[in-house]
Amino acid sequence: MERTTRYSKKREAILTALRATKSHPTAEWLYQTLKPEHQDLSLGTVYRNLTLFREQGLVRSVGVVDGHERFDADTSDHTHFVCASCHAVIDIPSVTAGKQVEAQVSEQYGFRVNHHDLTVYGACAECMQKEIKS
Ligand code: ZN
Ligand code: MN
Repeated sequence: MERTTRYSKKREAILTALRATKSHPTAEWLYQTLKPEHQDLSLGTVYRNLTLFREQGLVRSVGVVDGHERFDADTSDHTHFVCASCHAVIDIPSVTAGKQVEAQVSEQYGFRVNHHDLTVYGACAECMQKEIKS
């Protein structure tokens, strides 16, 4: 029973930490962030729970950036920008081109669309500033 409680506490902590950030973190980041409070936490537990959360539709993967999978607790349809320099994953919700893509797919191909996943890649404003200065 105690085992179940502790397991649930860790699971809750992982989900809470993911919901508290807009940085679309990696499993490693969540592990490092929670480790001081949860000494018995392992990276494997973080991975297992993220997989479970994704299956349950509680979190989504934003894809692999620089070799590390990035996670998002915001499962609503929204567009992401990925910076190739600093690897920031940024929400750009006002860009709704995905809705047009959905309409085009169903109108032009007759397919039923469930959802879309649009990610734009480039350099963020901060990294562009650094490029100018250097
Ligand atoms: Zn950047
Ligand atoms: Mn997001």
